Amino acid sequence: MPSVLRIALPVPLPTLFDYLPPTAGEADVGSRVLVPFGRGKAVGVVVETEAAANVDSKRLKRALRVLDPSPLLDAELMATLAWAADYWLGAPGEAYANALPLLLREDKPLPETQEPVWQLTHAGRSALDAGSRRGGSRALLQTLSEGPLSVTDLDTAALGDWRAAARRLSEAGLIERGEQAPPTATHPSMPAPALHPEQQAAVHAVSEAFDRFQAFLLDGVTGSGKTEVYLALIERALAQGKQALLLVPEIGLAPQTVRRLRDRLGVPIEVLHSNLAEGERARAWLRMRSGESKVVLGTRSAVFTPLPQAGVIIVDEEHDSAYKQQEGFRYHARDLALVRARSLNVPVLLGSATPSLESLANVEAGRYQALHLRSRPAASRPPQVQIIDMRAQRLEHGLSPALLHTVSETIARGEQVLVFRNRRGYAPVLLCHGCGWHADCPRCERPMTLHAAWRRLICHHCDHTSPLPASCPACGSQELKPQGQGTERLEEALTAHFPQTPVLRIDRETTRRRDAFEQLLGRLHADAPAILVGTQMLAKGHDLPNLTLVAIVGVDEGLLSVDFRAGERLAQLVVQVAGRAGRAQKPGRVLLQTHHPDHPLLRSLLSQGYAAAAKDLLSERRQALLPPYAHQVLLRCDAHQRDTVDAFLGEARAALPDTDTLQIAGPMPAPMPLRAGRHRGQLLIESDHRRHLHAAVRPWAMRLAQLPGARKVRWSLDVDPIDL
Ligand code: ADP
Ligand code: ZN
Ligand code: ZN
Repeated sequence: MPSVLRIALPVPLPTLFDYLPPTAGEADVGSRVLVPFGRGKAVGVVVETEAAANVDSKRLKRALRVLDPSPLLDAELMATLAWAADYWLGAPGEAYANALPLLLREDKPLPETQEPVWQLTHAGRSALDAGSRRGGSRALLQTLSEGPLSVTDLDTAALGDWRAAARRLSEAGLIERGEQAPPTATHPSMPAPALHPEQQAAVHAVSEAFDRFQAFLLDGVTGSGKTEVYLALIERALAQGKQALLLVPEIGLAPQTVRRLRDRLGVPIEVLHSNLAEGERARAWLRMRSGESKVVLGTRSAVFTPLPQAGVIIVDEEHDSAYKQQEGFRYHARDLALVRARSLNVPVLLGSATPSLESLANVEAGRYQALHLRSRPAASRPPQVQIIDMRAQRLEHGLSPALLHTVSETIARGEQVLVFRNRRGYAPVLLCHGCGWHADCPRCERPMTLHAAWRRLICHHCDHTSPLPASCPACGSQELKPQGQGTERLEEALTAHFPQTPVLRIDRETTRRRDAFEQLLGRLHADAPAILVGTQMLAKGHDLPNLTLVAIVGVDEGLLSVDFRAGERLAQLVVQVAGRAGRAQKPGRVLLQTHHPDHPLLRSLLSQGYAAAAKDLLSERRQALLPPYAHQVLLRCDAHQRDTVDAFLGEARAALPDTDTLQIAGPMPAPMPLRAGRHRGQLLIESDHRRHLHAAVRPWAMRLAQLPGARKVRWSLDVDPIDL
């Protein structure tokens, strides 16, 4: 039997595809090949070369062409991707598609690693000096007279339709295309501070492990100097000629970190995030692959960057749920970072002020080494936290007199206040006082949020919107009353209450435009009073040295939620937001307004801090046999009809092996049984042992697509789901 190529193709099917080798060219594992697929062609990645054919080889098609003479994906990435597809029960082709930038998934030659530039010719310079005017082209000539610029630079330079201008100027011989010189190392413009002993100990521990795999958890409050530890480790990796990968949950909120890295390290930094132009993403990926670049900073998918000279991998804010991909290939970037570190034989450092219970359990089990930063160089002392009991208080738009009083004292001192409310819009419910009717989304059967400025009701689950009714559709009463508060309403209330003080709202609506977040915060004067109102976007990013009071309102939903992770999330959020208070020389203060002042989680959090609260939460999880002490796979399914959902989940349930190593819950409705007009259901499979779980679920997952009901529903599998 002839040997065949086994190829991963970017389709959501749980298999690899067999092809005969192309007539010319040698296809290696990790090379891309062009193959006939369906009625067209597809670019795939060779996973095996000497495979035995699964089907009669006469029926196999032949691969058309090898795109890479030598593998684009190295052995380590290939092994990691195979592991990831198996672990997260993903389609192998989708795992590879996640790993490769879009441009590298096309049948095209690899882009040059440096972007071409436009530059002035001699004629262009003389024309400019002679002051010639060439219509709208002069602005471009002027801009290029300061030096060559790449397409990306020009796109961001606010030059209008510069492409048309470039065409005219190049036809006239005034500008030409050129090669960009590779970025040269600049000198670090910012010296490193002398590390304090805890930082030194952390850097020492991790760099001791530079030539082997070891996982570390760096636990330190905001401002304790974690980023300085990352920088020192990256510097050490660079000094040994090695590469470093730094993952962050969201780049938009971390431009300060980008600047800090650039200023400090004095080498080019690749920054990978979702807004990056595809050409830039592909070039950055290739520069890391060639070793031309040494440092990459990026969000979730940057975990797939090639690291042929890996030195260290760092995951900042490791508890952040943004690391979990919630659609398609549902991998967790933090967990994948650990897998990569192991196969690359390098240390991995997870950092957080509020470590996930998973990571804390790994410390407890001896799998990770804990490193602590307890002191806080940037703050004189930790913020003082106080609970405001809201029961029996006269509230003004949800704000208690004690809270308003403290806000007014703070701004009178010329300092700034952050009012945190994790809900955008004006009010989460619009209620009729006449009959109790409230506005529900017809597609989700959940209350719609009132957005006053737009005079609309918007469903935050499916984005369905409708105009504000003038009267109650049920009884005709005009008395429609907003219930509860969103950020928009708090902004209005605070503006009315403190007319002399600027009130800035920061949520998804006010920061829709790129850079809007930075611009809004840039409007704050370091030495003038101001009030910020916003959602959890405010928990991160940007130092605010004059911010001394954080008021947390409306977190009670998190105390009452049925989701077993709600307590952990609430504790993390409260600590992260509270950490914004009191940097620089001024002490900070935190107020937490609640109807449940005696709730055990709040009590342990406020009296003993996050570590103690997390310990309590972990022991609850252990007793209830919940993750991280049990392992879960969730089958989700949705369809237009409830019956179709039930039928498929019933078939899936019946197809599961009967073994006492698995606990099965369901089929049952999802926590939101209806969303965007689709009925939703789920089947939860749990086990105390990950091995048992995977052994049982792996063959089952392969059969799901063949079940008779599968074609009538949308379904997906989620390994280690983070929301049920
Ligand atoms: P984190 O990442 O834990 O929030 P950072 O590393 O950003 O903390 O440190 C907070 C502030 O303290 C920064 O302004 C940083 O420059 C400063 N800082 C950190 N470590 C030191 C140190 N050893 N000496 C002086 N300043 C420090
Ligand atoms: Zn009514
Ligand atoms: Zn809806």
